[in-house]
Amino acid sequence: MRLFLAALLLLAAPAAPAAHAEPTGAERAMMQTVTQEHDRHIALLERMVNQNSGSLNLAGVRAVGDMARAELEPLGFEVRWVDMTETGRAGHLVATHAGRGRNILLIGHLDTVFEPESPFQRFERTGSRATGPGIGDDKGGVVVIIAALRAMQAAGTLKDASITVVLTGDEERIGAPAAIARRDLVEAGRVAAFALEFENLAVEDEQDFGTIARRSSNNWTLRTSGRTGHSSGVFNDTLGYGAIYEMARILDGFRRELPEPNLTYNVGVIAGGTPAAIDAEGFSVTASGKTNIVASTAIARGDLRTLTAEQDARIRAGMQTIVDAHLPRTEAELVFGEGGYPPMAPTEGNRALLARLNAVNRDLGLPEMAEYDPARRGAADSGFVAADVDTLGGLGVAGGNAHADGEWIDLDSLVRQSQRAAVLISRLSLGGD
Ligand SMILES: [Zn+2]
Repeated sequence: MRLFLAALLLLAAPAAPAAHAEPTGAERAMMQTVTQEHDRHIALLERMVNQNSGSLNLAGVRAVGDMARAELEPLGFEVRWVDMTETGRAGHLVATHAGRGRNILLIGHLDTVFEPESPFQRFERTGSRATGPGIGDDKGGVVVIIAALRAMQAAGTLKDASITVVLTGDEERIGAPAAIARRDLVEAGRVAAFALEFENLAVEDEQDFGTIARRSSNNWTLRTSGRTGHSSGVFNDTLGYGAIYEMARILDGFRRELPEPNLTYNVGVIAGGTPAAIDAEGFSVTASGKTNIVASTAIARGDLRTLTAEQDARIRAGMQTIVDAHLPRTEAELVFGEGGYPPMAPTEGNRALLARLNAVNRDLGLPEMAEYDPARRGAADSGFVAADVDTLGGLGVAGGNAHADGEWIDLDSLVRQSQRAAVLISRLSLGGD
C-alpha cells in the first residue's frame, strides 16, 4: 500500500526544473552542527588571526599550523609537519584521514602577507563583520575546513572518508625552488579524486559564485643592451638604436601583437640609461644618463597571467619572437622567474564539480552559484594540482580588502560555506549524488 501510494505521488509530481532532493538525516545533522558551533569557530578564527603568520615569520606560521593540528588530530587525522627550511619558509601541514571513500584533497594556507612589522595585527568584530590580517585569506578558509570536518565527524560521514588536508605555509611568498616548495601539494593532487581549495568565496551583488578556473601568475624580466656613444650617431650603422629604443620596440610589440581574451601582461617597473640596474629583489631600479649619450642598458619587469597551459606556452613563445627581432646593434634577453603559479584551466571536470556543489545548494535551500570570471580572480595554490585532478576553488569565506589593512569577512559566510563544504565532501567521498 505504501509503495503504491509512493508510486502515485511520483506520477503526480510536476516536472521540476532542476532535480531537488531533501537533505538526508546526516546532512541535516551536519548543517545543525555548523550552526551550533558558529561561536566556537569565530573564537578559533580570532586566535588564528591574532597569531601573526607573515610568510617570513617562520615561528608564527608553525604556531598557526599547531592550532590546525590541535583541531585535526582529535578528528582522527594523522598530522605531519613538512619542514621547508631548505626553501627559506616554515613548512606545510599535511593531514590525512584514512578511509575507503574516494580521496578528497582540501587546500588552504597558514601564512599571510602581513609580516610582524605591519601595523595591522588584530582581530576585531562588529556584529557579523570581522576584520584582521589574513582573516579571509586564508584563515577563514582554514576554519571552514575545520568546521566542515567537525560537522562530518558529528554526523558520522567522516568515519569512512579518505581526506587529505594540505595547508601550505608560503602561499603568499612561495619558497625557492618552487619544485621543492610545492612537491608535497603536487603529490597529494596526483593521488586525489577531487581537489577543493578554500580561498575567498567570490561574491558580487550579494550573489555567491563558483571558482572553476584561475589564471596563472608569473613574472618576467627583460634586459636590453646597445652600443653607447655620442647621441649624434644614434640610428647610424656603428651605434645603432641603443637599449632604450630596443626596449620601447619590444614593449610596444607586446602591446600591439599579443592581446587576446583571458590574457594580461603588465609592465610594473622600468629603467634605462648608461648605466641602469635593478636590485636583487626586482623591485627597485636605478639609472642615470645624459641626453647626448646613447643608452647602454634598459631593464623592465612585468607579469604574465594566462588561463591555460597552452595559452601560457604560446604567449611566452610569442613574446620571445618579438624580443628576437632586434633593432640594429642591440640585444635583448627575456627571462621568466621561477616560483610562479600555473593556471587552473576551466575544464569540464571542474564544471562537473560546480554542478555537484549546485546540487548541494538546491538541496540545502541555498542559492545556486554561477561560474566566476577567471580574469577577475588571482592565482592560488589550486593551480599546482588542477592539471592532475578536477578542482573547485573559492570555497572559503566572503569578504574584502584582502592583502590590505582593513581586510574583513562576513561571519555569516563562515556558516553557509562550512555547511556547503561538509555536505559536498561527504557526497563526493562516498559516491553517488
Ligand atoms: Zn590566499
